[in-house]
Amino acid sequence: MKGISEETLIFEKEFTRQEPLPQAAIDRVTEILQSGRLHRYNTVKGEVAEASLLEQEYADYVGSTYCAGFSSCGSAIYVALKSVGVRPGDKVLSNAFTLAPVPGAIKNAEAVPVFVEITEDYVTDLNDLEKKAKESQAKYFLLSHMRGHIVDMDRIMEICNRYGIVVVEDCAHTMGATWDGKFTGTFGKVGCFSAQTYKHLNSGEGGLLITDDADVAAQAILYSGSYMLYEKHIARPKVEVFEKYKKLTPNFSLRMSNLVAALIRVQLPSLKRQGERWNERYKVIEAELTDVERIYLPKRPAKEGYVASSFQFTLKNTSVEKVEAFIKVCADRGVELKWFGSMEPKGFTSRYESWEYFGETEQLPKTAEVLNFMCDFRLPLTFSLEDCRKIAKIIKQVVIEVIE
Ligand SMILES: *Cc1c(COP(=O)(O)O)cnc(C)c1O
Repeated sequence: MKGISEETLIFEKEFTRQEPLPQAAIDRVTEILQSGRLHRYNTVKGEVAEASLLEQEYADYVGSTYCAGFSSCGSAIYVALKSVGVRPGDKVLSNAFTLAPVPGAIKNAEAVPVFVEITEDYVTDLNDLEKKAKESQAKYFLLSHMRGHIVDMDRIMEICNRYGIVVVEDCAHTMGATWDGKFTGTFGKVGCFSAQTYKHLNSGEGGLLITDDADVAAQAILYSGSYMLYEKHIARPKVEVFEKYKKLTPNFSLRMSNLVAALIRVQLPSLKRQGERWNERYKVIEAELTDVERIYLPKRPAKEGYVASSFQFTLKNTSVEKVEAFIKVCADRGVELKWFGSMEPKGFTSRYESWEYFGETEQLPKTAEVLNFMCDFRLPLTFSLEDCRKIAKIIKQVVIEVIE
């Protein structure tokens, strides 16, 4: 057996351990706590709330006209769908490899999903998108940049414009990421971002919605639960736009609090640097795994300015049983892999067949094949480059032991 002479490596750090928040965040939160003004509309005359300041800063950062804070990215996606006009029974195209809050948002909007296949590189299959767009006549596409893999946005927009399809981008894993130098979330009509602990900025929970469309922005702010206090927002359309919608738009009470906004504001200036740190880690692992015979690594196009806060690879020419055994042995060695091959939803991971609340699910053989053999793990910034090298070495050892 190959590799027998090497010592068996064991990894001991936690895959769920994030970095502590910077002192400036703690200081700012303390100030807000001392003021008692935690609610975004609890401002004194002339004061602009922390949440409003964040919205303006985030809009400036990505280059959008408007921005609205939410309690989560999932709630922002739901509101985005409502605000672009999705009504009960409308069809919404969506790539089938995503996280549960995405189908959850479609369900919340009482829409009907039309799932689109993914490719071996984990992104939307453009041929299947075109085919389903034609067949279904859907007028919306909820594009999830799942695990930070960015599909060819030029082709996506070309197809969607040709069919008159409105695009909503789920950028939970692509905050700070670009396609051809342009931030994700600015290609479609709306972009939604997450500030949940495991995403790119950590505020526990939090969501941001961006758009250049005044009607969408006004409705999104009203839906978020702005009462009749929307004038307090600064990254917002003119008051007249709200006048059109204020009696037609329910208050869903999905606001962001000033504490969450303060945490995100302090971290935003270091987003670029954090992205570089993630990518340094990604590249160490990628280099180690590149020539392993049984491993396929996704091709990442030159235009994709990714932020690799997680790592995915596919085991080649093997069986599902062996993949399960591989994941088990990796876990025994301290390398916690997630697997979308299981029919039973587990932890944060679920696959389209288990979203039974939609009723009958269509067959997605290509996606099923990719998910059956794909392994996935987090890359927290608490891991050093040396840690990343060790993880890759363990993966290599286990491939030799279990797969070959
Ligand atoms: C986490 C996540 C979401 C939802 O974000 P929340 O802020 O937790 O609601 C949506 N899409 C993807 C791909 C995610 O990973």
